[in-house]
Amino acid sequence: MSYTLHPIGLINSPYQEKFGIPRQPALAPSAPVSLTLLPPYNQADCVRGLEAFSHVWLTFVFHETLARGWQPLVRPPRLGGNSKVGVFASRATHRPNGLGLSLVELKSIDTQQGVTLHLAGADLLHGTPVLDIKPYIPFVEAKPDARGGFVDGPPPQLGVQWQPKALADLQAWHTAPAWLAGLIDEVLAQDPRPAYQNDPTRVYGIRLAHCDVRFAIQGDTVLVLEIIPPA
Ligand code: SAM
Repeated sequence: MSYTLHPIGLINSPYQEKFGIPRQPALAPSAPVSLTLLPPYNQADCVRGLEAFSHVWLTFVFHETLARGWQPLVRPPRLGGNSKVGVFASRATHRPNGLGLSLVELKSIDTQQGVTLHLAGADLLHGTPVLDIKPYIPFVEAKPDARGGFVDGPPPQLGVQWQPKALADLQAWHTAPAWLAGLIDEVLAQDPRPAYQNDPTRVYGIRLAHCDVRFAIQGDTVLVLEIIPPA
């Protein structure tokens, strides 16, 4: 038994590489992500009534990692990268069928030219193919007393300190998006390092909104060292 699925739209996102993308939606609400629908779904009729919902579920393909297949056991970052759980007890990207599911805020819908959904708080790579959109129905789906297993509660946050060079870089970049500094704060506070790494001398780089963000992590603090704008 096999099925063929086709994307109904593509994600436009400031996240240009996997490294640095928050591990779940809503952790970096400043990320301005949009979803542009593809023909024949890019007609206003397909989204009629959707604007009445504040949040939507997106079903998508982990297209960047699909080719790497899956394994029965995975090491979730929330368990420090050492303990293993079953793939179906995790939100790991390497899974059978490579499907992802994210609950994101729907800010607005533009139907002037085709259909574009403006979203906030998505954990999606630029170019992610989306297979379906469904409205979030709070009275059915909100379960505040549900058990969250090994991910009960939000992850600990790091403090973010901008160094003078990084501040000057951002000021000198006159066309920098207004939301960029906020997004950098939110992304770095999540501690993007792999769970097993703890080297305070190491300088990391994340590609975000077409710039390179250089940073180091000392204890519970991220030092933003440098912002290199697009050439
Ligand atoms: N909320 C979704 C879920 O639960 O299915 C995704 C959770 S998954 C742990 C989040 C990670 O997926 C991000 O940190 C990013 O590294 C990765 N990711 C996002 N978009 C991707 C894509 N198109 N292909 C592969 N990996 C992707």
